[in-house]
Amino acid sequence: MKSLTRVILSILVVGLVIINAPRIYAEDAPKQQPTDEKIVYLTFDDGPTRGVTDDIMDQLKKHDVKGTFFVVGKEIQDKEAVLKRMHEEGHGIGLHTYSHNYKKVYSSPDMFIKEMEETQTKINEVLGEDVKINYIRFPGGSAGRLNQDFYNLIKSKGYTIFDWNVNLEDGVNPNASVYELVENAKKARDKINTKIVLAHCNLNNKNTVKALDGIIEYYKSQGYTFDKITNDTPEYYYQFKK
Ligand SMILES: [Zn+2]
Repeated sequence: MKSLTRVILSILVVGLVIINAPRIYAEDAPKQQPTDEKIVYLTFDDGPTRGVTDDIMDQLKKHDVKGTFFVVGKEIQDKEAVLKRMHEEGHGIGLHTYSHNYKKVYSSPDMFIKEMEETQTKINEVLGEDVKINYIRFPGGSAGRLNQDFYNLIKSKGYTIFDWNVNLEDGVNPNASVYELVENAKKARDKINTKIVLAHCNLNNKNTVKALDGIIEYYKSQGYTFDKITNDTPEYYYQFKK
């Protein structure tokens, strides 16, 4: 009888420990649901470009990894084949405005939306099919630009926003060494298990291409699964002031 009591007590204690187990929530990114699964999204902004975007896709193919390209509408002209390849090889294609001109893009929330819609139209023209893309990225990120009204407008259009929690810093510093870029890829701004890595595929991002081996190997060694962003991926954006 005594041992039965002990068994019941043990079960109760274990149960309480499980219920009270600490869960890690990001302080500054409460909008991303916490998940136990380690997922990394490699995202590349500002393409398509000649050379670099293809080189990145070659690297991704070599590692059997899908990436996500946030494309700029005006860059698609004369690089239609690069966009088609992204689509054919199954990468995510997100919207990153048409002009990438901050002054124009951020002149009004309506202009911002218009730029996303123009890019969507251009993509469909080139791909020759009606691909509805919901996921968008703010040039320079949403911090200091997003507010409640703007957010509501974006939601009314059905878009999901993707900022990042890992930054290669290859946009501000494209000439950073391969070593520095790989080290930057290991630093996250929060503790959630979903990592969204910001990288670029501008013409001057040659070292980003070279850093991919090290970045992919690092995330594999840490037990991450690589995934691409889709219309169903939970959005991730920085908390804004109401
Ligand atoms: Zn950009």
